[in-house]
Amino acid sequence: MTNQLARRHLAAPIVIAQEGGGPAVVRMMRAETCRLVSAICTCLNLHELDSAGRCPVCDSTSCALLAQVRRALLPVQLSTRDRQ
Ligand SMILES: [Zn+2]
Repeated sequence: MTNQLARRHLAAPIVIAQEGGGPAVVRMMRAETCRLVSAICTCLNLHELDSAGRCPVCDSTSCALLAQVRRALLPVQLSTRDRQ
């Protein structure tokens, strides 16, 4: 799978989650969640820090992937409207 195809695949759940109806969103999220988590874990495994805290891919103690994943997974502040 090319990088462009992977990005297109990753975009589909976002579009469906934002624009799809209830049952379609639930079906898609059930199907895609395991695949998305597996893909992220595969990437994180490649950037596993060694005992000195050094990433073998980034060749640094500042792993770029880990930093971006942390930012992406930061808790979001839901507005009152989103909680209803
Ligand atoms: Zn890294």
